[in-house]
Amino acid sequence: MGRGPAAGSAVTGLRIGTGFDAHRLVEGRRLVLGGVPVPNDRGLEGHSDGDCLIHAVCDALLGAAAAGDMGRYFPSSDERWRGVSSLRFLDETHRIVAERGYAVVNLDVTVIARAPALSPFVDRIRRVLGEHLRIDLDAVSVKAKSNDGLGALGRGDGIAAQAVVLIQKKDEQE
Ligand SMILES: [Zn+2]
Repeated sequence: MGRGPAAGSAVTGLRIGTGFDAHRLVEGRRLVLGGVPVPNDRGLEGHSDGDCLIHAVCDALLGAAAAGDMGRYFPSSDERWRGVSSLRFLDETHRIVAERGYAVVNLDVTVIARAPALSPFVDRIRRVLGEHLRIDLDAVSVKAKSNDGLGALGRGDGIAAQAVVLIQKKDEQE
């Protein structure tokens, strides 16, 4: 595949990506968000640990590199990924993006959850994301919204997350 005539991105080597994911909350599952266990009466349903925050970040990273989506690399039909920590997806996704010559510049994530309150866990989640993506803590933002009672997320039927990430060609960093 040749390089396109994207003059703007060739100048700075900067690329942006977005990711979104949502999972249902069900009984009998542990709630894990951003790789951090969060005490709650229900957890996220999913083939893996259902960590929608990490899944949104992975899709944002893959999107920024135009490298497809999570389903391409981690299909739920693959038994290898059953019950695994989504941090493995994050590490693998980071490797895919790094292999294409990119490093992460910064990351901004919004989690939409009626409950539990996530503010006590936000800094731990930021640290985990920063460690796995090899960026400083001040380049990682995690915010939580309740959806103000609106719709399925506002009722607490599930939790969603959206992520925006900026990546940069390694040889174009200062
Ligand atoms: Zn997911």
